[in-house]
Amino acid sequence: MATQVYISRRVVTPEGERPAAIVVEGERIREVAPIDRVPAGAEVRDFGDAAILPGLIDSHVHINEPGRTEWEGFETATRAAAAGGYTMLVDMPLNCIPSTSDAGALELKRAAARGKCRVDWAAWGSVVGNNQDDLEPLAVAGARGFKCFLIHPGTAEFTMVTEAELRAALPHVVRTGLPLLVHAELAGPVERATAGLANADWRKYATYLRSRPDEAELSAIRMLLTLCREFRFRLHVVHLATHRALDMLREARANGLPVTVETCPHYLHFCAEEIRDGSTLHKCAPPIRNRENRERLWQGLREGAIDMVVTDHSPCPPEMKRLESGDFKAAWGGIASLSMALPVMWTEARARRFSLGDIARWMAEAPAKLAGCDATKGKIAAGMDADFVVFDPEAEFVVTPERLHYRHPVSAYMGETLRGVVKATYLRGNAVYADRQFHQESTGREYTR
Ligand SMILES: [Zn+2]
Repeated sequence: MATQVYISRRVVTPEGERPAAIVVEGERIREVAPIDRVPAGAEVRDFGDAAILPGLIDSHVHINEPGRTEWEGFETATRAAAAGGYTMLVDMPLNCIPSTSDAGALELKRAAARGKCRVDWAAWGSVVGNNQDDLEPLAVAGARGFKCFLIHPGTAEFTMVTEAELRAALPHVVRTGLPLLVHAELAGPVERATAGLANADWRKYATYLRSRPDEAELSAIRMLLTLCREFRFRLHVVHLATHRALDMLREARANGLPVTVETCPHYLHFCAEEIRDGSTLHKCAPPIRNRENRERLWQGLREGAIDMVVTDHSPCPPEMKRLESGDFKAAWGGIASLSMALPVMWTEARARRFSLGDIARWMAEAPAKLAGCDATKGKIAAGMDADFVVFDPEAEFVVTPERLHYRHPVSAYMGETLRGVVKATYLRGNAVYADRQFHQESTGREYTR
């Protein structure tokens, strides 16, 4: 087995950024050594001042295969991931058909993924209205945890859960020891707000924003924390969009509740004041809120009240975005961002004096822990998989369709100048993407431990 060495002046390890030589044997990191201690006879790649970060882990992706491969798919999603510096994706259980609500559906997903993946992947199962008895078998079959919705998710095959249904499912979830990821908006506040907007102009972003008030998130999180106190399940709040929930989340954690929180690049980059009317590419749920809210989410990251940043990459065919009419009510909600998330995050984080170490913590280490793959993924350290992204943090580029690589090259970020370029992505010691070229073979596989 040939020893390979990756050198950089800026290797991002859990202890911080430093000049180092990453010594790789086979698929694993043997050690992270000083630059002057490169083993004799090793194959050396010197990346100079380009940084080496751990391969990013995206624990919130909608791959939509099988069943809606015309929206996305394993081949295109993992290609965009490789170009974006990700080495592992965890697929959400909805928008695919069937949704991943029992072990049989997970087997169909595996069959669909076979031979198509450029990076590693794993799957979340679902908690829906009637699958309580399928949860433990799903865990045995290899689901990394479960996802549920407290509001209608927008597709017919996937049902939301009521509090009563959640109560029926939670003892099973607890027995698996796996996390429950929750789309935390309650329908009541959204329905009441929407009823008052019957005659509003739905081309206006402000109308859409008013239809999904902070209170929908706040009331959902309040209910979840009550259930968490009672059942002690591992609660993970997905795509937090309102800063107003941070106080109660902080307090819950201070009281020892097992709660983690994610937000997404679009909530940290865009703000409602700057979204043009009719720009349905910016529609997602919960919605992108105002500028002050954005800055307070950054503050939440700084204080550790938000643990991680994941994409919620949720593409659809462009027609479904209703770009001609600009109708926020009719447009599909979801923002595709797999290949752009790292430069978007670095552009914003750097401007607020965060480090590449913070990026690695939010976008690799914490999601790896959530998905239970942190024994071998999520950081640069001895014994871990040799998953890296080589990233030039000083270079700039403009977002164009040919840089997106997912199925439909549309983006809310189109035309923006971003800071930081992914030079190469290594999966278990092999380049899957380098200098804007993809490796010929698809070597990604399911993470199954
Ligand atoms: Zn999602």
